[in-house]
Amino acid sequence: MSEIVETDVLIIGGGLAGLALTARLASTGTRAVCVDAGPMPSAETASREQRTTAILMPGIETLTKAGAWPLIGPDAQALRGMQILDCGGATPVPRDEAMFDAAEIGGEAFGWNVENGKARLAMAQRIETLADARFLPETTLQSHVTREDGVFATLSDGASVRAKLLVGADGRGSAVRANAGIGLRKWGYAQKALACRVHHTRPHEGVSIEMHHVGGPLTFAPLQGGVSGLVWMNADGEADRLAALDDTAFLDELNSRSNGVYGEITHAAPRALWPATTQVATDLIARRTALVAEAAHAFPPIGAQGFNLSLRDIEALAQLCEGAEDAGADSLLATYKRRRTPDILARTAGVDLLNRSVRTTLRPVRDLRRLGLSVLGRTPPLRKLAMTLGMGRS
Ligand SMILES: Cc1cc2nc3c(=O)[nH]c(=O)nc-3n(C[C@H](O)[C@H](O)[C@H](O)COP(=O)(O)OP(=O)(O)OC[C@H]3O[C@@H](n4cnc5c(N)ncnc54)[C@H](O)[C@@H]3O)c2cc1C
Repeated sequence: MSEIVETDVLIIGGGLAGLALTARLASTGTRAVCVDAGPMPSAETASREQRTTAILMPGIETLTKAGAWPLIGPDAQALRGMQILDCGGATPVPRDEAMFDAAEIGGEAFGWNVENGKARLAMAQRIETLADARFLPETTLQSHVTREDGVFATLSDGASVRAKLLVGADGRGSAVRANAGIGLRKWGYAQKALACRVHHTRPHEGVSIEMHHVGGPLTFAPLQGGVSGLVWMNADGEADRLAALDDTAFLDELNSRSNGVYGEITHAAPRALWPATTQVATDLIARRTALVAEAAHAFPPIGAQGFNLSLRDIEALAQLCEGAEDAGADSLLATYKRRRTPDILARTAGVDLLNRSVRTTLRPVRDLRRLGLSVLGRTPPLRKLAMTLGMGRS
């Protein structure tokens, strides 16, 4: 392609966040072009992705406005309940629990659990139907300048793009963030998350189970077809050991650790490892530039918060752009920063604290956490408040 493309927003990165933002913007009249270094999402790329994501109801509203939910929904599993089990005692067996039921806060479900690969494929299909959206796979940003009146970019296929706003949706290692001179605060926990698909003999009935073991949580998120997505967090060495086991030995360890919560686990494959780190960009904006999703914030996969926080960035930015004459105006970007910063910092601190308290080997902290869970489990008003806050509603 050697043309000049005119658009309102140029989005770098077409992961879940970049594609969702493209569809959300273009569904309400803001022109958007999204580029991604990877191939076009397909059934084949979807089958290689092991991550699943629980998208909570406020996020579903954003995907509905993006026109993507009708395409994602048929493959999604309703998340009707969440059970948290404390297993932080002297032996790794459940010693306390709290059950959160969506019906208690008047809903059919907290949200829906989707396979990331299938969700990306559905979003790409939605974008194809939108006159104001364009998705360019296997394309990167080669160079760009931000001027007072716009962004002028050259893509790796030779095309030139004139936009009002450049958005970094290019993940944890964001080049947009670095090029804008925005710094990063980052820390790790010497932990990794092991993700895979599991088959089990007891039906999940739409309930996710998060078992808080010393070293990290073991979480099962229900998927369509009676299977579940597993996320098992452990200290680095233990995670590497589990990932290297043969299938039979891995199943033995998983069955022993899961204490039969879903009956017997009969299949768990293939396995993928993700390092657990927290990072926050030191700013969300620069001249004619905004960061969203993991380019702006990332943390360990605990409590189903990462992409849900990203969907709130997307909703805020799309609402500001809708009908705006200049999607990259200083005042618009300042409002975006003001609206999103408190939520991002609070959610990052909350997940960091939760992860530290779950993985700790300190007995008094584990006992305190158990007490907190026990009080939550037995106190309906507190439980309702926790469910509302957990969904990202205030
Ligand atoms: C095991 C696991 C379980 C999780 N479960 C949940 C959950 O239940 N609920 C929840 O809310 N969140 C969950 N998360 C978090 C969620 O998966 C992520 O927040 C989300 O997938 C990140 O999306 P993203 O688009 O921000 O980043 P990415 O997926 O990293 O996408 C970035 C994209 O940018 C592209 N890119 C990078 N650089 C360039 C460049 N220079 N030019 C062009 N393209 C570029 C890449 O190709 C990539 O496609 C989980 C995460 C993990 C690891």
